[in-house]
Amino acid sequence: MATDIQNKDLLKKELNKLQIVRSMLLPRSIQEDYILEHDVKSMKFGVQPMDIKAKSTDYKVSENRVIRVRLIHPNEGEQSMGADLIYEQYDPEKKKVRFIMIQYKIWDGEFLYWSQAKNLDPQIKKLEDNLCKKGFCHCELGRNHSTDYRYPFCSAFLRPTDKLQFKDSPFTSSGMHIPICRINGVAVESKEGNKILRKQNMKHTSLSHKVFEESFNYNQIGSRWMTYEEAEKLYKEHKILENDERIIVHVQELEM
Ligand SMILES: [Zn+2]
Repeated sequence: MATDIQNKDLLKKELNKLQIVRSMLLPRSIQEDYILEHDVKSMKFGVQPMDIKAKSTDYKVSENRVIRVRLIHPNEGEQSMGADLIYEQYDPEKKKVRFIMIQYKIWDGEFLYWSQAKNLDPQIKKLEDNLCKKGFCHCELGRNHSTDYRYPFCSAFLRPTDKLQFKDSPFTSSGMHIPICRINGVAVESKEGNKILRKQNMKHTSLSHKVFEESFNYNQIGSRWMTYEEAEKLYKEHKILENDERIIVHVQELEM
């Protein structure tokens, strides 16, 4: 009898592993892909994109600041990092950059079910391991709060994303942004043991897409400023950049 239970537990563990492996092999949903491709080059921060490349778009948000929105390739960086998109803000004079990584999940606007959101647990864990636990969610003083007036330092968000209402909309899709470390505090479990994120429960601990964009632009959310080298090292570890690539933003682009 005891061995039966042991065997059952072992089998369940194996099954869980296989399910994770299977979901890693499947591509992102077409819907999610479409929204990501759309959002990486839509109007943001109150400005039109300045420079649209294949996998990133630059926005000139002030005289000497650029925000780059970067799409992470699903077969490479996404699986390693756990994020779909990165918002990067550049200070080209000081050669500093700060960022936020975002995992997109489509929902109905009210509920996000773990059973339907493919891969969610492993992706959340990766973001935690790669960013939160590596100190990217700390300020220069090594903690996550600041003496300035701003939200806590956190560099990873989950974004339950509404389906696009209008296919040709010039604007970014709408969605909520919840810091990765706040998810467990507000997720609930159904009678069947299915984990659910409810809009009602997460409202007080997440940001609307408008507030999110504005707050990132004004340095009120996201990581601290770091050197280009520090960010490049992280990006290369997770195949977001090739070994010979740099993340430089050219000042010439700024003068356009
Ligand atoms: Zn964090």
